[in-house]
Amino acid sequence: MSRYWSDIVHRLTPYVPGEQPALAHPVKLNTNENPYPPSPRVLDAIRRELGDTADALRRYPDPSARKLRETVAAYHGIRADQVFAGNGSDEVLALTFQALLKHDKPLLFPDITYSFYPTYAKLFEVDYRTVPLDDRFAINVDDYAVPNGGILFPNPNAPTGRPLPLAEIERLVASHPDAVTVIDEAYVDFGAESAIGLIDRYPNLLVVQTVSKSRSLAGMRVGFAFGDAALIDALNRVKNSFNSYPLDRLAQAAATAAYEDDAWFRECCAKVIASRERLAAELTALGFEVVPSAANLLFARHERYDAATLASQLREKEIFVRHFNAPRIDQYLRISVGTDAECDVLLDALRGIFSTYVG
Ligand SMILES: *Cc1c(COP(=O)(O)O)cnc(C)c1O
Repeated sequence: MSRYWSDIVHRLTPYVPGEQPALAHPVKLNTNENPYPPSPRVLDAIRRELGDTADALRRYPDPSARKLRETVAAYHGIRADQVFAGNGSDEVLALTFQALLKHDKPLLFPDITYSFYPTYAKLFEVDYRTVPLDDRFAINVDDYAVPNGGILFPNPNAPTGRPLPLAEIERLVASHPDAVTVIDEAYVDFGAESAIGLIDRYPNLLVVQTVSKSRSLAGMRVGFAFGDAALIDALNRVKNSFNSYPLDRLAQAAATAAYEDDAWFRECCAKVIASRERLAAELTALGFEVVPSAANLLFARHERYDAATLASQLREKEIFVRHFNAPRIDQYLRISVGTDAECDVLLDALRGIFSTYVG
């Protein structure tokens, strides 16, 4: 604390990201990174952008990331003016809070969801209410039928991985025409249905995606919003009042190349999905209750073992999973889906912990 701090700094509750351990070979199942490398075309594109002398880096990047947006728009069968590109979807969400979600009526999001949402709400002084998930951690769209200045949740939800059918999302968006509904699709490529196909029909729908998870580019920081051109315009107005160049040249080249290699993307997603199903079955056999997941993560609790203790015992073995000390979910672990080999290391460690437990 310092007398130099502005008022708002005193009131913030900063988001705490998962640990990035300084170890040579951690089994890192705590931040939902992809266990597979990005397409080889990404490396080629970065090399091409740099050339022999990195001369391109003298110049500012394209402030509007036009080529990237055109590539991604063509990929999804929409127009480039329906695409916004930002420095990771976290930044896209931050701009969305300011541009579209700050109104007199409160923003609604689930009680159990991505913990960055309340952080942004405090930073941008957006009034919000949380709407409880049901006891199976499902979103019931009828619970959102209260006056609101916007609705926001991930599909699949975080940190549970539980998906909501597209028909339910359409029902929600159709029944709230006076405010923007934002669907955060950070994990959609691992088995849920995207709402991008609805943006032409619903001018109040914004869909947010990222290359961090399904395209293995968390280190590049690229995210998108898809929606009616007027919504994208609002994001651009805020962006251009804050940072004209959120995406550097290498990030634009890398993300463009990632979208140009659809076969690689599909193969990585299929491998992660297969490993998820296998890991879910093995965890269930070990006595875990696993929430049905359409993401690259599993949310699970054990009938007998305390989650925080398990997380710290795994950590001693250099296996990292995420534990949230929060109401309703403090007995759960969020486990990112790694390679089958990484999942096996985790399962062996759990078997070891359970076999030595004297309780
Ligand atoms: C990972 C994640 C993000 C952030 O992704 P970046 O593009 O890496 O900033 C946003 N929303 C949810 C729900 C996430 O899990």
